Amino acid sequence: MRRIAFMNQKGGVGKTTTVANLGAALALMKRRVLAVDVDPQANLTTHLDHQMDPEGPTVYEVLTGRATPAEAIVPTSTPGLHLLRSSIDLSGAEIELVSSFGRETILREALERHLREMPAEERYHFLLLDCPPSLGLLSLNALTTATEVMIPIQTQFFAMRGMSKLLEVIRLVRKRLNPRLVIGAIIPSMADFRTNLTREVLEEIRQYFGEKVTRTVIRTNVRLAEAPSHGKTIFQYERYSRGARDFLDLAREILSPGEFASPSVPESPKSERTVPGGDADHDAVPDEDRQDGGGVSPLS
Ligand code: ATP
Ligand code: MG
Repeated sequence: MRRIAFMNQKGGVGKTTTVANLGAALALMKRRVLAVDVDPQANLTTHLDHQMDPEGPTVYEVLTGRATPAEAIVPTSTPGLHLLRSSIDLSGAEIELVSSFGRETILREALERHLREMPAEERYHFLLLDCPPSLGLLSLNALTTATEVMIPIQTQFFAMRGMSKLLEVIRLVRKRLNPRLVIGAIIPSMADFRTNLTREVLEEIRQYFGEKVTRTVIRTNVRLAEAPSHGKTIFQYERYSRGARDFLDLAREILSPGEFASPSVPESPKSERTVPGGDADHDAVPDEDRQDGGGVSPLS
């Protein structure tokens, strides 16, 4: 099972959109996916569980020991895609848990117990964790549960701002809490190839992160922005849209990194601009740390 946290403390970069639609794309490719909403904004929950029971247990009850993951996980309208729900209650969890022992690993322990008890044929191939736009305790719980972190980056000005802080937190988590954690991918999002800015920022991102950047670039697509308000994934809302194509491409690339050449990504011109925040030590994430993309073996 691959466990991937989608993280960027910058808000509105496409984390939730990626978890919802990548999760749906992987499920369409016959993978069993559990999407975990670790954000008190609960946008992923609203997106995937439109008919949600407002009283139902959520990840908040799981973190505070009042419910098991099995009670807080619901199927979604996409077969094979399940959701561990969130709610606004989660905003209190960081304070409530502040003096709990092992507070950074509560989610991992609860989920591992649950996953171990699942019948083999129901086990997930992918765990996708949608983080809040902060580097607090909830994000730490996601980073200790995951073995890969993927960072969506908006291909817009200031895209790289705050990146060194994020990489530092990932390094610290790896050192102190989760030695298996690697940076799986940087995912350029909300690209508009009609503008030079998108091409320039994409070039900066590629210069900085090199091979870690996915070949698939998620382009700006109004259908992706509309789908959540209908409680639909992009494949249910507009399956022939650009957004749907991009998330299918991303799913294929994540299943087989290295083998994939995206037809939808134009070459970017060279840019002389320097990268803000370029002091971060991205060499700390060696290439051999990349996970193999099989993604189909059940939890061992
Ligand atoms: P937060 O940090 O607040 O959790 P986020 O990183 O999860 O935000 P999203 O909620 O996925 O970001 O996206 C922010 C907004 O941009 C949403 O309204 C979403 O519908 C829209 N959006 C995301 N990706 C795209 C895209 N490729 N094209 C157009 N709109 C998009
Ligand atoms: Mg979000």
